[in-house]
Amino acid sequence: MEFLKRCPSCGKRFVVKVDREVLVDKEEDTVKRVRDLAMPRAIAGGGSFMPVAALTFEIPIERDTFEVSYECKHCHHQWKETLVVVKKEGAKGKPTSITRA
Ligand SMILES: [Zn+2]
Repeated sequence: MEFLKRCPSCGKRFVVKVDREVLVDKEEDTVKRVRDLAMPRAIAGGGSFMPVAALTFEIPIERDTFEVSYECKHCHHQWKETLVVVKKEGAKGKPTSITRA
C-alpha cells in the first residue's frame, strides 16, 4: 500500500509506503442524539410547528485505533502515526429518554 504523504525527514512527497497497519485498540461507545418532536400549531392553536418534546437516542459506535508504520523510500526514515476510525450505526431503536417541552 502506497500513500501520497510527505516524509517528515526529507520532506519529499510520493515516496512513502505503508509498512504495516496494526489494530491496537477497539472501543465501543455511545453518542447521544436529540431529536425534537413537533406538533402542528394548527392543532395546538397557531400557525407553524410547536415543539412538544425532545427525544434522546443513544447511538452505539465503534472506535478503532490503528497504528500505521510508514517508511520513506527515499531516505528510509521510519515513523508511526495513530489513525482513529469511527464507525457509526444508524439512529434506530427507541429513545432512551423523552423530555417534555
Ligand atoms: Zn524521506
